[in-house]
Amino acid sequence: MSTVPSNPRPSASLKRHFLWLLLSVAGLFAAGIALSLWFSLQASSQTQQRLLELEATQARVSLIRLLDYYHTLIENTARDPELLDLMRLGSVEEQQQWAISRQRLLPDLLGLALVNPQGGVLGEAVALRVGPRCQQDMQRADTLTDTRPLLHREVAGLEHFDLVSAVRETGGEIVGGVFLSVRLTQLQRVIDDTLHPDHALILVDAAGSTIVRQGEVKGALQEVRLDIPGTGWTLLAQSPVRLFTRGSEMQVLAGLLTLGAVLLLLGVTMLRLRRTMLRDIVSTRDAMTALARDEAVPAIMPHYIEFEPAAADINLIARHLQEQHARLEHLSLTDPLTGLPNRRAFEIHFPQALGLADRQHPVALVLLDIDYFKAVNDRYGHGVGDQVLLALAQSLKELTRRADLAARLAGDEFVVLLAGLDAAGGDAWYQRLTDHFRSELNALGLDVQTSLSAGQTWLGSAPGDTMNAALARADRALYQAKALGRGRLVQDGLPAADPAE
Ligand code: GH3
Ligand code: MG
Repeated sequence: MSTVPSNPRPSASLKRHFLWLLLSVAGLFAAGIALSLWFSLQASSQTQQRLLELEATQARVSLIRLLDYYHTLIENTARDPELLDLMRLGSVEEQQQWAISRQRLLPDLLGLALVNPQGGVLGEAVALRVGPRCQQDMQRADTLTDTRPLLHREVAGLEHFDLVSAVRETGGEIVGGVFLSVRLTQLQRVIDDTLHPDHALILVDAAGSTIVRQGEVKGALQEVRLDIPGTGWTLLAQSPVRLFTRGSEMQVLAGLLTLGAVLLLLGVTMLRLRRTMLRDIVSTRDAMTALARDEAVPAIMPHYIEFEPAAADINLIARHLQEQHARLEHLSLTDPLTGLPNRRAFEIHFPQALGLADRQHPVALVLLDIDYFKAVNDRYGHGVGDQVLLALAQSLKELTRRADLAARLAGDEFVVLLAGLDAAGGDAWYQRLTDHFRSELNALGLDVQTSLSAGQTWLGSAPGDTMNAALARADRALYQAKALGRGRLVQDGLPAADPAE
C-alpha cells in the first residue's frame, strides 16, 4: 500500500508572499517619502532662518541709521560756536528761545532744551517739553558724557528716548548740554516698515522690557537676536516654525499619489499573476485527475513560458500513461495465445449485441468446441494443440465482420456473435468456418483428426434474455451436437426477428 509523503516543510502561501511584497513596497515608499520630507523640512527651516536673519539685519541697520541721525544732529548742534556763545553769554530767556526755535525746525522731536553742566534745564521745562523724570535722569553725574539713549515710557502717548550731548569750551570744559527727546514712534516706524507678514520684531532694552514691537508669533517659533550697538538694546526677530510648507505638502501628496499608483499596479499585477499561475496549476491538476480516472487527458497549455517545460513533461507522461493504459486494456481483453478477444471482452461486448437483438436485429450466438482436442494434445503434443487453436482463431478472424465478435472463452471453447443472419445463414456460416478451418490446418501441414462442434442460439429468443441464459442455451445445443456425433451445428430455436425485415 502506498502512502502520500508528507511535506517536510510547511507550505508557504502565495497570497501571503504577495501581501508581504505589497507591504514592503508600501513601507519602502513611506520611508522614502518621510526621508524626502525630512530633507525638505531641513531645507525649508534653513531658508526660513536665513529670511529671518535678513529681516533682523535690515531692521537693525535702519534702527542704527535712525539713532546715528539723531546722534549726529545733537552733536553737530552742540559743536555750533554760536551755541557756545549763547551758553556762555546768553540769558536764560535767550537760551529758551533758541531751543523753542530749533524745536519748530524739527517737528518730529518731542522736546529740545539746553541744560547747564549739572543737567538743569535752561528755561521752563514744561515749555521745552522736558518731563520731570527726564530732568531727574539728566541731573545724574555722567549724563552729559553718556551717549546712550535714555528711555521714558511713564506717560502714555508720550513714550520717548532722550539723547544728551555736552557743549564744551575749546579747552574741553563742559559748559552745558543739548537735550533731545525723540518719540518712540520713530523706532516703531522702522520696525513696521521692515516687518514680514506672520513675523514679529521686538526691540527690548537691557532689562528685557519691550521698547517697541510689531507682530506676534504664537506657538513654536524661531528667533534671531541682534544687539543695537551703543544702546544696550537688543532686536528680536521671530517667525513661526512651519513644519509643512506648501511645497512639502505638495511633495507628500505627490509621494502618496505615486505610492497609490505603484500599489495599485502591483496589486493588479499580482492578482493577475496569481490567477494565471493558479489556472496553470489547476489545468495541471485536472490533467492529473483525468489521468488517475482513466479519462481523456486534456493537453496542458501553460500561460507562462516558464511553465512550458514542466507542462511538456506532464503532457508526455500523460501520453505515455495513456498508451500504456490502452496497451494494458488491450491485453486485459485479448487472449494471449490466439490474439482473439477473451471472455472479458465478450462480456463487455455482449450488452451491445443484446441491444441490437432487442431492436429486432437477429443476432446469433454460436458456441464452438474443438472435437477430440485433448486427444490431439495427447497425440501430437501441446505445441500442435496450440497451432490447432491458432488455425481456428485465424478462421474466425477471417469469417467475422466488423459488427461480429469472435472470442476464446477457455481451452478449446470459442464463442461467436453473428449479426444479421437467419437460420440458413447460420448453417452456411458454420460450413464456411469448418472448411476454412480445415484448409488452415492443411496449410499448416497439420493432419489432425478433429472437427468443430457448435451450438447456436438467438439473442433475445427468450424473454428478458441475459448473457448467461443465452450461453446456457448455446451450451445445451453444443452438448446436443457432441451427443449427435460431433462435427456439426445444432441450432436452438429460431431467430426472434426476421433479418429480411
Ligand atoms: P470433446 O470432443 O468432448 O470436446 O473432447 P476434448 O478432448 O476436446 O475435451 P475437452 O474439450 O474437455 O478438452 C479440452 C482440452 O484442451 C483439455 C486441455 O488439455 C486442452 N487445452 C486447454 N487449453 C489449451 C491450450 O491453451 N493449448 C493446448 N494445446 N491445449 C489446451
Ligand atoms: Mg473439445
